[in-house]
Amino acid sequence: MNTIVLKAREIAVKKECDVLVAGGGTAGISAALAAARQGASVVLCEQEWALGGLATLGVVTVFLPLCDGRGTQHIFGIGEELLRLSITAGYEDRFPDAWLGDHQDVEKRNTQRFLVQFNPQMFAIAAEKLLLDAGVKILYGTKVIDLCTDGNRISTCILNNREGWDAVRVKTVIDCTGDGEVAMMAGEEMRTFTQNFASYWGYYSAYRGNGCDGYRIYSENFKDHRRYDGTKAEDLNDMMFFLHKKLWERTERVREQEGNPHIMPVTMQTIPPVRMSRCIVGAYTLDESEEGKKFPDSIGRTTDWRKPGPVFSVPYRTLYGKTENLLCAGRNISVTDDMWDITRCIPTCCVTGEGAGVAAALAAKQNKAVKNVDINTIQEILKQNQILVD
Ligand SMILES: Cc1cc2nc3c(=O)[nH]c(=O)nc-3n(C[C@H](O)[C@H](O)[C@H](O)COP(=O)(O)OP(=O)(O)OC[C@H]3O[C@@H](n4cnc5c(N)ncnc54)[C@H](O)[C@@H]3O)c2cc1C
Repeated sequence: MNTIVLKAREIAVKKECDVLVAGGGTAGISAALAAARQGASVVLCEQEWALGGLATLGVVTVFLPLCDGRGTQHIFGIGEELLRLSITAGYEDRFPDAWLGDHQDVEKRNTQRFLVQFNPQMFAIAAEKLLLDAGVKILYGTKVIDLCTDGNRISTCILNNREGWDAVRVKTVIDCTGDGEVAMMAGEEMRTFTQNFASYWGYYSAYRGNGCDGYRIYSENFKDHRRYDGTKAEDLNDMMFFLHKKLWERTERVREQEGNPHIMPVTMQTIPPVRMSRCIVGAYTLDESEEGKKFPDSIGRTTDWRKPGPVFSVPYRTLYGKTENLLCAGRNISVTDDMWDITRCIPTCCVTGEGAGVAAALAAKQNKAVKNVDINTIQEILKQNQILVD
């Protein structure tokens, strides 16, 4: 293979922070908020120009349930806060009246799950305000592209944005990139999932002149089509080409079915809708068979969005590997493939984000490796936010 060697370059270190959060999806929002609330100085780098990741730019607009499908809520804290925030300007399509309605029917909670459907634009803007008000320094259009290490610690994150290369001196880092990008750069052992099927979500609307007669939400899965590897640049491009073609075809089909040539899609995904790509092989790997198991280092619970019943505790050890000052949250925590399908959903990303945020702030304050932060202190802080740590 042909290779080239880049010239060494000097980069000014203009910033420093207690906690650098890479990625501003639902995990990154939760992590940054939790760390800032513990008094940490937080920089959140997001390569796109809005918060929310797959939930907003990927137009995946169902905030999956906080409850177990049998009437009991298990996810609290920032998970519940963001669910409520996501519909603060109104909900779309799905609203759990038994949980949030004016006249709540507690019996109905056995059959109605505590989930909402939100508007992606309004959620992204509301989340941005929440973080700015909490004192988080948000850097949009900024990608974490490399790291400098000092032994087993990340000392500096190298960023790229409109100004070129930039460097931030860090005490702790939280990888919320969804794809374990920082963990991979740090040399952590990673596992990959290569069999993603293509899906799209979006809205279409019918315009007549300047008028509009409402819009509809759609989603479609292409499970019979080929699979995509979320760690491969060409696969991601191919997936987007395929989805764009399908969106065009769908628009034509709906126009024909409804006899209305004015129907238009009004939104589309601007990031690849990849469910699972790369995650860390951490100090503990959680599996679906561990339903109901108690962990002494639990940072919260999650339920199974696919069926009523199962409840899982998430151990703190799923958030870190060998790098002393790196935590993972969201889609890239340490789980098996089966469990990944549960922990990748929005509420669980909030649970792991909040746990990581609290722990990272403590690690920075106490100048400790993330694995040495006292778990009882982390849990006490989480409990103050109603989180069930068992
Ligand atoms: C098709 C599809 C349907 C889904 N349906 C649902 C659903 O109905 N309900 C539900 O709850 N969940 C659903 N999910 C899962 C859920 O949406 C995501 O798993 C979850 O939102 C992931 O959150 P995250 O913060 O971990 O990652 P992401 O949302 O992927 O966010 C990662 C962020 O990091 C940024 N980033 C990446 N690399 C870098 C870097 N190097 N530097 C800076 N920024 C970077 C990205 O731009 C992105 O904004 C679905 C997922 C898919 C793909």
